[in-house]
Amino acid sequence: MGAAPKSAHPARAFRYVEAWGMTVGAYGDVFLPRSRAELVAALQLAREDGRPLGLRGTGNSYGDASMNSRGPVLDISQMRRILDFDPETGIVEVEPGVTVRQLWRFLLPRGFWPKVVSGTSHPSMAGIAAMNIHGKNNFAVGTVGDAIVDFDLLLPNGEFLTCSREENADIFHAAIGGFGMLGIFARLRLGTKKVYSGILEVHAFANHNLAEMMEYFEEHRATSDYLVGWVDCFASGDSLGRGQIHRAHYLPEGRDPDPDTTCSLAYQDVKPNLFGIIPKSELWRPMRLINNDLGFRLLNFAKFQQSRIEAMGDPVLWTHNEFAFLLDYIPNWKWSYGRRPGRGLIQFQPFLPKESAYDTYCEILRRSQRAGFVPYLGVFKRHRPDPFLLTYAQDGWSFALDFKVTPSNKERLWRHCGELVELVLDAGGRFYFAKDLVLGPGVVERMYPEGHLERFLELKERLDPDEFLQTDLWRRVFAGVR
Ligand SMILES: Cc1cc2nc3c(=O)[nH]c(=O)nc-3n(C[C@H](O)[C@H](O)[C@H](O)COP(=O)(O)OP(=O)(O)OC[C@H]3O[C@@H](n4cnc5c(N)ncnc54)[C@H](O)[C@@H]3O)c2cc1C
Repeated sequence: MGAAPKSAHPARAFRYVEAWGMTVGAYGDVFLPRSRAELVAALQLAREDGRPLGLRGTGNSYGDASMNSRGPVLDISQMRRILDFDPETGIVEVEPGVTVRQLWRFLLPRGFWPKVVSGTSHPSMAGIAAMNIHGKNNFAVGTVGDAIVDFDLLLPNGEFLTCSREENADIFHAAIGGFGMLGIFARLRLGTKKVYSGILEVHAFANHNLAEMMEYFEEHRATSDYLVGWVDCFASGDSLGRGQIHRAHYLPEGRDPDPDTTCSLAYQDVKPNLFGIIPKSELWRPMRLINNDLGFRLLNFAKFQQSRIEAMGDPVLWTHNEFAFLLDYIPNWKWSYGRRPGRGLIQFQPFLPKESAYDTYCEILRRSQRAGFVPYLGVFKRHRPDPFLLTYAQDGWSFALDFKVTPSNKERLWRHCGELVELVLDAGGRFYFAKDLVLGPGVVERMYPEGHLERFLELKERLDPDEFLQTDLWRRVFAGVR
């Protein structure tokens, strides 16, 4: 354990803190430390406040994972320095508020790329570690936890602990994926990947149903760097689960004649205007016109037809930025779901073992269509097990489904998702806290490998006996679990 640095004065603000999906939010006190010393001081001030403390990165969890409506929030987004990088090993050392975007922009001109990234580039290093995020390459390289070398954790008692696979290994495997319930990530070191080009070779395939999608993934899994499927959730009958798969590969050394250019930020940066004139930052406004069942049915249909044409062509070259962060292409697209309280979206992402995945996902789609809750976006991925205590991934699949939320459909939608949760648990499935807003008590007891939850709760009891670290997610899902 290291000694805590001298105290300082962190900035403090009274702010609206909301879920990324905008469906829940609350005003509250927010601490904004900029340094390790201010982090310690913020923890001390929060202790004096007497209420539980919630941790927040850049607020990109769809649900209430980084909200704390019963106390202050400690937001680490101002601690955003890249501290060190070793080009020999590819290991980078960062403060917890460094974002994925900041990291790739630092790494790529040096010929490296983060091993695991999310579909948006805005999350922080602490946030991705606390949720143990996965990318479109989960089946190949595991979760971000597999890329983390070590970290410093500021414990609720004010002491720093360095954790790695060798040192405090139990806490290392619990804090990664531990959704900020054991301590505060204050510094992290991660391995990165050497790349020989700023572009990826991407193959597109149009699948006519879910079975075809799964077969394609299995056939190409051993030889692909990335695989991701988009599903038209409106298609039914024989076309249930139809969509498009993108399969990508890094270019081998020597294939790109000018890697310095393709790895440059100028080459990677996406143009801010559509057709050179329409600012992409304003596109969410016209998108409101199609943000309804009919609009998305037509959009999904058109996208599927376009993917059939795309699939007939040769593989195409995409920049890393374009391929990895497709969801950032239209800034603030979520606002098209409505910007008034109670409106927005939730994501429901069940993870299923390979044995039960096909039947369960088909049933989820059928039931959602019957109930009149067709997801506007469906994303399919392949996963593999990982060694972390609160692991959500397994040898199987995930299907992320975006549901629109309005004040009038909320109650029915939650009931519908509750039924789907039972279906998933009965099929041996799991859920991912970064995406969740619908789980209730009694779920976590049924979803982890044997002994994992108990070991996590023992650590919570040891490191945070008075449950100082809490979020709305913790109270919602872990209420009564002891
Ligand atoms: C459009 C979109 C696409 C996404 N795509 C993916 C994807 O492809 N794969 C994937 O896995 N996820 C994905 N996500 C989810 C996202 O990556 C995670 O929710 C991630 O945790 C967000 O990081 P954040 O910095 O915003 O953290 P927040 O959402 O602010 O917080 C996340 C968790 O980290 C905890 N935390 C924050 N700071 C600390 C700290 N210093 N120490 C300890 N705990 C802390 C919080 O308490 C909370 O539990 C996506 C999200 C969006 C909005």
